[in-house]
Amino acid sequence: MQQDRENRPEQIRKPGLPEVRIMEVCGTHTMAIARAGLKSLLRGQVKFLSGPGCPVCVTPAGEIDRFLELAMRPDVLLTTYVDMLRVPGSVPGDTLFRRRSSGAQVQMVYSPMDALELARQRPDRQVVFVGVGFETTAPGTAAAIALAKKQGIGNFSVLSLLKRVEPALRALASDPEMKVDGFLCPGHVATILGAEAFRFLPEEYGMPAVVAGFEPEEILTAVSHLCCQIREKKPDLENDYKRAVSSRGNELAREKMDEVLVPCDGIWRGLGAMPGSGLAIREAYEDYDAAKRFELPEKEAPVLSGCLCGEIIKGKREPADCPFFGGRCVPEDPVGPCMVSGEGACAAAYLHPEVM
Ligand code: SF4
Repeated sequence: MQQDRENRPEQIRKPGLPEVRIMEVCGTHTMAIARAGLKSLLRGQVKFLSGPGCPVCVTPAGEIDRFLELAMRPDVLLTTYVDMLRVPGSVPGDTLFRRRSSGAQVQMVYSPMDALELARQRPDRQVVFVGVGFETTAPGTAAAIALAKKQGIGNFSVLSLLKRVEPALRALASDPEMKVDGFLCPGHVATILGAEAFRFLPEEYGMPAVVAGFEPEEILTAVSHLCCQIREKKPDLENDYKRAVSSRGNELAREKMDEVLVPCDGIWRGLGAMPGSGLAIREAYEDYDAAKRFELPEKEAPVLSGCLCGEIIKGKREPADCPFFGGRCVPEDPVGPCMVSGEGACAAAYLHPEVM
C-alpha cells in the first residue's frame, strides 16, 4: 500500500547525516532541478545524479548513423523531433541539419501525427518518422502507425528507436558500482504506466522510489520523502504526483502501445544492449516499419574519444568532468547528445552554471 507521509523538509537538511544520492531518470526533472537551483540549495545533504532520462541522449551513435544514411535516399522525406536534427552520429558535426544542407529532405515535426499528415500531403515521397522516447511518446507513435494502416497511407513509415524505462532502471539498481540511494521516478512515463510500475524498485532491489512532479516544490517534496525512506532504511514506493499519475496509469494509451509495439532488445548509449529495453513494430504492422521497408542494417559505431555522455547517462560522471564541456562542446555546437537536448545533463549544467 502507498504509505502516506507528510512533506517533511527537515528530513532533507539534517546536519551531521551523510549525504544521500538521488538519481532522477527523466530529462525534464534534470532541467527543472537545474533551473530551480536545487543542486546548490541542497548541496551537502543531497547529491543529484542524472540518469538515462533524456531520449536523445540514450540513442547510440550507431542508430543515429542509420537514419542519417536513410535521409540521403532521394525518395525519402525524413521527419523527427527538433532535438534529433541536431544530434551528431559517429562523425563529429554529422547531423540531420548538416545532411539537409547537402540536399537531404528533412523536416522537424511536433508529433508523429504531423508526420502522417505530411505523408498525406506528399504522396511523391516516402515519409519516415524517426520515433524516439520512452513510454511517454510510444503511444502517440503507435497511434500514428495504426491510423496509417487504417487509412491505407502507404508512403508513411516509422523507424522505431523507442525505449522502455524499466530495464534501464533494473540495470542501474543492480549495478554494484552504482552508488544510488534512491530514485526520483519519471512523472511523464508514470502517467502512462502508472505509479505501481515502479514497485519493483523497493520490492526487488530495496531501493526507495518516489514518483515526482516537475514544479520545484513538487521535486522538493519527493526528495524529502526519499530522504525519509533512505534515513529510516524503509524503502517504499510513493506517488507524489497524484494530480497526474494514478496507480495504474493510462490503460487506453497502453492498449494502443501494446497493439502496435512489442518489447525487443534495445541498445542504449552508455548502458549497451539490454533485453526487452526497446520497442519494435509488431508483425501485423510491419508494412509501416521503416527498418524493414528500407532494409536498414543494425549499426554499431564507436564513441567519440573523450566524450563522457555514456558515463554521464549512468550518473557515474558529471558534465564538468568532460574535457569538451563548455569549450569544444556548447549547445550551439554540441559534440555529444547530452549537450544537444534541452533535457540533457550537459545542456542543463551549461545553461544554469550559477546554480549547479
Ligand atoms: Fe558529451 Fe559534450 Fe557532455 Fe562532453 S560536454 S559529455 S562531449 S555532451
